[in-house]
Amino acid sequence: MDDKTLTCDVLIVGGGPAGLSVASTLPDDVKTVIVHQDREIGLPVRTSGGCWMEDIERLGIPDGMYNRLNTNEAFADAAHTVIPMGDAVPVILDTPKVYKWLAEQSDHKDRTLLMETKFLSTRLRDDGFYESEIRARDNGVERVVSKYIVDGSGWHFAVLDALGLAKKPERLAVGTEYEYPLGDNQPDRGIIFLGKKVPAGYGWAFGTARGTLRVGVGVIQPDTDESPRKLLDSVIADKPYLDRLGLKLEGDPVVHSGILPSVAYDDRLVFGNVIRVGDSANFATPTAGEGIRVCIELGRLLGVQLGKAVKTGRRGPLRAYERHCRRKLKRDYKWGFLVNNRAASYTPDNWNASVRRMSKLGPDAVVATLRGEFPLLKVAKISWSVLRTLIRSRLHRLKSRLGLA
Ligand SMILES: Cc1cc2nc3c(=O)[nH]c(=O)nc-3n(C[C@H](O)[C@H](O)[C@H](O)COP(=O)(O)OP(=O)(O)OC[C@H]3O[C@@H](n4cnc5c(N)ncnc54)[C@H](O)[C@@H]3O)c2cc1C
Repeated sequence: MDDKTLTCDVLIVGGGPAGLSVASTLPDDVKTVIVHQDREIGLPVRTSGGCWMEDIERLGIPDGMYNRLNTNEAFADAAHTVIPMGDAVPVILDTPKVYKWLAEQSDHKDRTLLMETKFLSTRLRDDGFYESEIRARDNGVERVVSKYIVDGSGWHFAVLDALGLAKKPERLAVGTEYEYPLGDNQPDRGIIFLGKKVPAGYGWAFGTARGTLRVGVGVIQPDTDESPRKLLDSVIADKPYLDRLGLKLEGDPVVHSGILPSVAYDDRLVFGNVIRVGDSANFATPTAGEGIRVCIELGRLLGVQLGKAVKTGRRGPLRAYERHCRRKLKRDYKWGFLVNNRAASYTPDNWNASVRRMSKLGPDAVVATLRGEFPLLKVAKISWSVLRTLIRSRLHRLKSRLGLA
């Protein structure tokens, strides 16, 4: 091998929350290389960073890396409600800080982080090692030889695609956000807006931990061929609409944009010594596209299991990772994907009805739906809640027609 080749136990492709979390729990002496095509961890911003206080605590994310949203509202064209959250508190992560913090957790290990370095392709050699071709802008490494490869490349599916193991997702959630100075906007308020302005998707606005305000729009393509940026521009240009949402936008915004898969969960995560994690394994919730907390939790699990596989040469620990993810996600994501498909075809009238219903559903059902969690008891409760609300509103309409209300 020449000096442009690095040899390691594990090659991780992608330094997002998933890949970094895997590295954070690999044993200290497992030789690891992370290739990351961006110049800096966490930048450019490609995500909104929505999460929940209970996950912040569970995952040990330090104070100062998130902003709590204490007031949450939903707007449709002819409906508005305060979203019932009960004890659940949504937060907005300062993702550049959180991702850097995740990276620091493997700084002391036998880990090499190659920035501005792109994984291009790989081949399995006769000796059972993968020889991967990478393009590095400044340090000249051109090949990484490794026993294992983790695909943490997000929606790119870089490794899976290169080896023909899984197809790149064809249905994608595509989002654009503008980040403004906070100005007079309430720092702890979050809103979602739905209806005519955002077909096959939704819009949002919230205060951030950086003392700014972010406004964004996400759509599902190809369910719509609208561009989120154009839709966002039309929201921004509509002063009466912004007044109704209670938003005052001043100054020049910084633009962020991102993409994530919006396809049914596929429970195959282990392909011999190639393992997928994060968005390349469809870990984001199908209901709200929330992936960061899931990437951190399951990425950490993969690090532990992969460490055992490296030490013993056995596949069992990787199968255990796959089984755990299946148990944790498969059923919930099946329900969540039904909600996703239904919501993508909603008309503005459907959204009016849905936002009105939200105020009556109670926090349990609303938070479970937003989090994409549907244990059987909750599904029964949600179904009963929806049914009861529907029956009540039909009865009310009938009584009005009969002059009894
Ligand atoms: C508009 C939008 C809003 C979102 N909002 C939220 C939210 O509010 N809350 C939430 O939890 N989640 C949200 N998500 C989802 C969340 O961002 C993802 O689930 C999460 O970032 C997935 O992490 P990951 O590490 O798997 O992939 P990524 O974060 O995509 O990281 C993968 C990294 O790999 C790098 N890479 C790709 N290919 C290569 C290659 N060939 N070589 C080297 N490096 C490569 C990429 O540059 C990227 O930085 C949102 C996503 C989008 C698009």
